[in-house]
Amino acid sequence: MTDPQGFLKVGRVDNIYRPTDIRVMDYDEVELQLPVNERELQASRCMDCGTPFCHWGCPVSNLIPEWQDKLHKSDWKSAYELLQKTINFPEFTGRVCPAPCEASCVLAINADSVTIRANELAIIEHAFEAGYVQPNPPLVRTGKKVAVIGSGPAGLACADNLNKLGHTVMVYEAADALGGYLRYGIPDFKLKKSVIDRRVGILELEGLEFKTGVEAGVDIASDELIKKYDAICIAIGTRIPRDLQVEGRELKGVHFAVDYLTQQNKDVAGHEIRAQERITAKDKHVVVIGGGDTGSDCVGTSNRQAAKSVTQLEILLEPPQERTANNPWPLWPHTYTTSSSQKEGGERHFSTTTKKILGGNGRVNKLSIADVTWEKSEKGGFEMSEVPDTEKEIDADLVLLAMGFVHVMKDGLVNDLGITLSSRGNIQCDENYMTNVDGVFTAGDAKRGPSLIVWAFQEGRESAGNIHKYLMDE
Ligand SMILES: Cc1cc2nc3c(=O)[nH]c(=O)nc-3n(C[C@H](O)[C@H](O)[C@H](O)COP(=O)(O)OP(=O)(O)OC[C@H]3O[C@@H](n4cnc5c(N)ncnc54)[C@H](O)[C@@H]3O)c2cc1C
Ligand code: SF4
Repeated sequence: MTDPQGFLKVGRVDNIYRPTDIRVMDYDEVELQLPVNERELQASRCMDCGTPFCHWGCPVSNLIPEWQDKLHKSDWKSAYELLQKTINFPEFTGRVCPAPCEASCVLAINADSVTIRANELAIIEHAFEAGYVQPNPPLVRTGKKVAVIGSGPAGLACADNLNKLGHTVMVYEAADALGGYLRYGIPDFKLKKSVIDRRVGILELEGLEFKTGVEAGVDIASDELIKKYDAICIAIGTRIPRDLQVEGRELKGVHFAVDYLTQQNKDVAGHEIRAQERITAKDKHVVVIGGGDTGSDCVGTSNRQAAKSVTQLEILLEPPQERTANNPWPLWPHTYTTSSSQKEGGERHFSTTTKKILGGNGRVNKLSIADVTWEKSEKGGFEMSEVPDTEKEIDADLVLLAMGFVHVMKDGLVNDLGITLSSRGNIQCDENYMTNVDGVFTAGDAKRGPSLIVWAFQEGRESAGNIHKYLMDE
């Protein structure tokens, strides 16, 4: 057990973030690590609860109290060994997981939770530095061949586990680089891309094979995949962004957030972006429509591109500062938060709808917005209505649509294979992650809809376990 009185003696200390005025000048990661001794002290705050709710809150059921104990006792190697039992790539979750574990930490009932995510990051980064993370290829190959379609966190976790179980795995990726939204989506200032390359290097040494720039269903036909492989896992994410159906949508200067963020990732990676295709916030009034994480990433990117102003619009009510009675611990708190990007500048408006996009000479220059209210309807849900006489215009030279993603891409692979979809338009599967097509499995956002990296890991791992069982039963 960690220090039984650690939580009484030591207060929560978060990682240091680089000063906002300096970090907006570059795309380097904003978060810095605490010194080793302070990190070990933070681990001493874990109470090793009889029922560790953090473990319940973590989708991959990380052995949190167990590795906190090792960390507190300076046994970083054992901490790493425990950590890697339940999660393939903690260097990603350690950087960008919203940490549902911390929301359900028992300390969070009346105090600050343990710094679980940051401790996880410290363990894995220390493990890389100390050389504990070494290629560990399987000793025996089963002779079974599996294709994993998509190299986002779900595809990578699934492929990693299948490879470790001795199957021969090929990962097909449509984009020119591996990682899904880890690579093209999440900004470099939250997750530097060398972290993905470092892990891919190890996976390759372990025998995993990757083909980038290959869209399954287009560059390799779906019937060829079926013939060539003993099983397939479709982990293609939800990649259809939600659109805004209002007048003026067609004007130049209105873009999906993910296109904008991807282009900036490519720019940081040294790709040449043609001037006529460049989407930039420089000297522009930027309006981000959508108050979530993707919207926040657009705010951080726009500030780095020297926008004249940045405004983020959210249609929902402003969340309360504290938990409400119907949102108690240990559930995820629906409370007001400010991301590191939002701290860097910009305005936020809640309960605001966009009525029209206005422009001149084919380019956006204003948005017409109005206030809305949300009332409980007779059916129990909430209904939105516009507040009369609140319509107004705001400056907008660049509009970024960050309203989430609707469903999986149906054209191509999914339709060709005749895969059944859920009522939400995502891939349907049985409790073993197998679709209606024998031997074709799924995982991640493609199955559950837009979610989190840690859920993609969990599903990739589960899917791999079921594929293994299917192959070996065969
Ligand atoms: C901008 C942004 C920021 C985010 N920030 C966070 C965050 O901070 N924390 C967090 O936990 N989550 C975050 N998320 C959500 C998280 O990234 C996703 O939940 C996660 O990436 C889903 O993983 P996945 O493997 O299911 O799909 P994806 O990451 O979408 O990967 C799917 C992959 O499949 C490939 N593909 C698609 N079709 C084909 C085909 N036919 N053939 C071959 N390849 C194909 C795609 O190119 C892609 O690489 C963010 C998402 C976005 C968009
Ligand atoms: S993966 Fe996320 S939820 Fe799980 S322990 Fe790490 S930070 Fe917490």
